[in-house]
Amino acid sequence: MTQYDVIVIGAGAAGLFCAIEAAKRGRSVVVVDHANKAGKKILMSGGGRCNFTNLDITPENYLSANPHFCRSALNRYTQWDFIGLVAGAGIAYHEKELGQLFCDNSAKDIQQLLLSELAAAGGELKLETSVTKLVALEQGFSMNMASKPVQCSSLVVACGGLSIPTMGASDFGFRIAQQFDHEVLEYRASLVPFTWNNKDKEHWSALSGVAVPATVTSQTKSFSLDLLITHRGISGPAMLQISNYWQPGESLTIDWLPSIDVAEQVQQDRHEQGKKQLKTWLAQYLPARLAEFFVEQLKLQKTLAELTKADVERLATHLNQWQFNPGGTEGYRTAEVTLGGVNTNEVSSKTMESQKQPGLYFIGEVLDVTGWLGGYNFQWAWSSGWAAGQVC
Ligand SMILES: Cc1cc2nc3c(=O)[nH]c(=O)nc-3n(C[C@H](O)[C@H](O)[C@H](O)COP(=O)(O)OP(=O)(O)OC[C@H]3O[C@@H](n4cnc5c(N)ncnc54)[C@H](O)[C@@H]3O)c2cc1C
Repeated sequence: MTQYDVIVIGAGAAGLFCAIEAAKRGRSVVVVDHANKAGKKILMSGGGRCNFTNLDITPENYLSANPHFCRSALNRYTQWDFIGLVAGAGIAYHEKELGQLFCDNSAKDIQQLLLSELAAAGGELKLETSVTKLVALEQGFSMNMASKPVQCSSLVVACGGLSIPTMGASDFGFRIAQQFDHEVLEYRASLVPFTWNNKDKEHWSALSGVAVPATVTSQTKSFSLDLLITHRGISGPAMLQISNYWQPGESLTIDWLPSIDVAEQVQQDRHEQGKKQLKTWLAQYLPARLAEFFVEQLKLQKTLAELTKADVERLATHLNQWQFNPGGTEGYRTAEVTLGGVNTNEVSSKTMESQKQPGLYFIGEVLDVTGWLGGYNFQWAWSSGWAAGQVC
């Protein structure tokens, strides 16, 4: 019977980082993954350059039923700690925008850094290996790994969520949690593009490829960032960010001209630009295709001077407060994260250890902690993995 101190299930960002820390403490550690490569999501992240953290990490950038849960780990292993590790390894990086740090060369630099740190600390990695027959012993756990029995004293669940099933995502982490009587809060695809409802699809898909800065507002939150019209729906950073706060069935308000009060601007400009077609006037502020589309939708093929008070009101509402009723989202196929997951009220925020089963730990995305777009989710993986790695 093979015996380890620590078995980590999931060789993603959180699992590898936890394993490195535990192995550095002299624990015998193995990381198992059913995929054929470690850190697949790291490799595909940030358009292949991995947005590995953010300069401005605060608990307010995370969503959870227990908003304070993430505080301790984020304070103890910070973005500065991870930046120090990256810089110390000689990996070149840059801030793209909004504090988001990306590799200059390739996400592979981060994956390789983790794998070399794991090897240097003496941790093992077993790929294309499944775990079955998991049971708790009086002390520790026993299971089959690639059909061979193994035992460990600490078991770390780092299986992530359901996004991108083709990359190895599974609900195994949630099932392990339930096996040990943990509550798994309702979960869904997030940081995800929205899809058109049937009615909008017909009109809007012709605008596919148009990108504009806009403000998107849900019932609780607003983001002013770029959005991108696609033939499936609306994507872009503004939409991905708001998807964390959107509830299925709700509508979103889109301000297509966030820096302009349309009604006021029309009043101001109609004196000097009264003879201008509305379409031409609007094209000063919006991509021409979009300007033309709005004018056609509203049937306002008029000059500025010809617009009635009611026309201006209609135009202003349409541009500054457009109501978008999404058909839904693109789902796990393209979502960057799974929102929801293992209830953090039953897990120690300091160590990530289960309060129901000694020796069992949950880290990373499997927990009900979801960050904004922009490096926040990887920082949660590093911080929670580090916290468990100090004690498991
Ligand atoms: C396309 C994309 C781009 C992203 N870009 C960024 C970014 O730039 N910045 C950022 O902060 N976040 C980004 N994210 C989010 C980020 O990748 C995740 O939040 C992070 O990877 C979560 O880490 P994790 O270790 O908890 O889970 P994962 O990285 O998902 O790792 C889980 C591991 O568990 C394994 N596993 C699952 N089921 C089993 C099983 N039954 N048996 C064995 N192993 C199993 C999986 O194969 C996987 O290797 C992106 C996500 C996607 C999908």
